[in-house]
Amino acid sequence: MDSEKISFIQKNAEQAIAEARDLTALEQIRIEFLGKKGQLTACLKQLGNLPPDQRPTVGQIINNTKQAISAQIDQKKALLEHDAENERIAADTIDVTLPSRSRHIGSHHPVTLTLQRIQRLLGSAGFEIAEGPEIETDHYNFNALNIPESHPARAMHDTFYLEDGHLLRTHTSPVQIHVMQEQTPPFRVLAPGKVYRCDSDLTHTPMFHQVEGFAVDTEISFAHLKGLIESFLKAFFEQEDLPIRFRPSYFPFTEPSAEVDIGCVICQGEGCRVCSKTGWLEVLGCGLIHPNVFANVGIDDEKFSGYAFGMGVQRLAMLRYQINDLRLFFENDLRFLNQFKGQIH
Ligand SMILES: [Zn+2]
Repeated sequence: MDSEKISFIQKNAEQAIAEARDLTALEQIRIEFLGKKGQLTACLKQLGNLPPDQRPTVGQIINNTKQAISAQIDQKKALLEHDAENERIAADTIDVTLPSRSRHIGSHHPVTLTLQRIQRLLGSAGFEIAEGPEIETDHYNFNALNIPESHPARAMHDTFYLEDGHLLRTHTSPVQIHVMQEQTPPFRVLAPGKVYRCDSDLTHTPMFHQVEGFAVDTEISFAHLKGLIESFLKAFFEQEDLPIRFRPSYFPFTEPSAEVDIGCVICQGEGCRVCSKTGWLEVLGCGLIHPNVFANVGIDDEKFSGYAFGMGVQRLAMLRYQINDLRLFFENDLRFLNQFKGQIH
């Protein structure tokens, strides 16, 4: 064994490394030349056969060669790994022309949007949300609200009575009674919810949504109610010069009472089918809380006064979104509902 033979082994190794096409072939080359039974290891084992003075020099040459081959293998290995990565990426190419799997994102129902809008606007005026049961007693739905058994207003309510004598609430006003019984004034409360009436035609559904608002404090007057309603309606319809009028009316649980009209938002007061050619739309009822209601819940009407108002959510939603058919709210037609996608209250 001499340096010529080592040089020959090195050349063979270099050629084999250059020709290696994959990582498996390269590993075979490493075993063949550098492994325990490899060619260079065999050379090292033969060092003992050399004259002692030549051993260090030849030993050095063998070690240098080992290092050189090892370095070349590492270099080639990095190259092959890089190629493999590129091949994988090429094979994985995303076909951007493939149709995507669509995700169906829902939308808020216009009634929900309207409820949230009412709650946001009145919430900013200090009103807190309260909820009450949908199954009520005669007392909460009628008697406590100054609508005794013989009262003609009962006939207007088309009540669903249950077999056990309970009823489905016909308005959200019973929440007033619950809150006034349980809390001590002052308070400002908003009671949104479902109400039920035995009535179904083009403009009525057996279930609809109402929002009741009321405030009780020591110095509340009709002027407070008027100011609040005007600010609310202007904000709700986003129209600063919205015409608003209060018409004297009658509700058993308020005195004085008023119905509130706004200038028709469809025809701007010109007169159209929606406003029955009057140019006005009725949007809510309101008034100062009747002394009998206070008496029924034990609030001293010499010390406290209050106002209450109620509105139909479907009615306000129809006007805000210019929806011309009440039935659209209940048909779950995606073509209708998708129009509210991305809408915020
Ligand atoms: Zn009109």
